[in-house]
Amino acid sequence: MSLWGTLRSIGEVFGWKRAAEPVGCNLGKVIYRETKRSAQIANFHRPRRQLRPGTRALMRELFPELDVNAIRVRTRCRLPSNRFSQTGSIYGMTFGYTIYWRDNLDEDDPTDLVKLVHEVMHVDQVRRYGSEDDFACEYGKGYLAGGGDVPGHIRNPTAYHRNPLEAEAYAFDARFRDERGRVVPDRLPTP
Ligand SMILES: [Zn+2]
Repeated sequence: MSLWGTLRSIGEVFGWKRAAEPVGCNLGKVIYRETKRSAQIANFHRPRRQLRPGTRALMRELFPELDVNAIRVRTRCRLPSNRFSQTGSIYGMTFGYTIYWRDNLDEDDPTDLVKLVHEVMHVDQVRRYGSEDDFACEYGKGYLAGGGDVPGHIRNPTAYHRNPLEAEAYAFDARFRDERGRVVPDRLPTP
């Protein structure tokens, strides 16, 4: 059982509804810092680069208030285990304005672009919450609180998906997918 699962059960046993908030916030920050540090160490040799101009134009259209020029991607990364998600298919992780991508990133591939949109939503959340620490706090609280509106193509949503910050990112990238979750290239804006 994960640390999160343990805390959740303890909370339920003692009926800590109110205690769930600070626990979620503080643990969110701790896990975030630890995971970010692991990602940095494991990938110190991976170059960082900007998104291509066309991709930046696309992201600018979808996230008009975000400084997309500040985003950096590092590809072919080794990703640390995701303490928030037990499911295996982690293709990327985002810390602040840096996106760690597991495989090669093909910015001509609509499927990669839609996955990238999901990660850029997390960058935009950092902007909206004000800092990485505030984002991590909200993420931790959201993990415990749940209640996010997960799009229908995710058949078996877990606590990870129901985190309102994840649900927002999944719901946003679902705009570019059909009801079964397949990417529909025509739905992406053409800048
Ligand atoms: Zn996500």
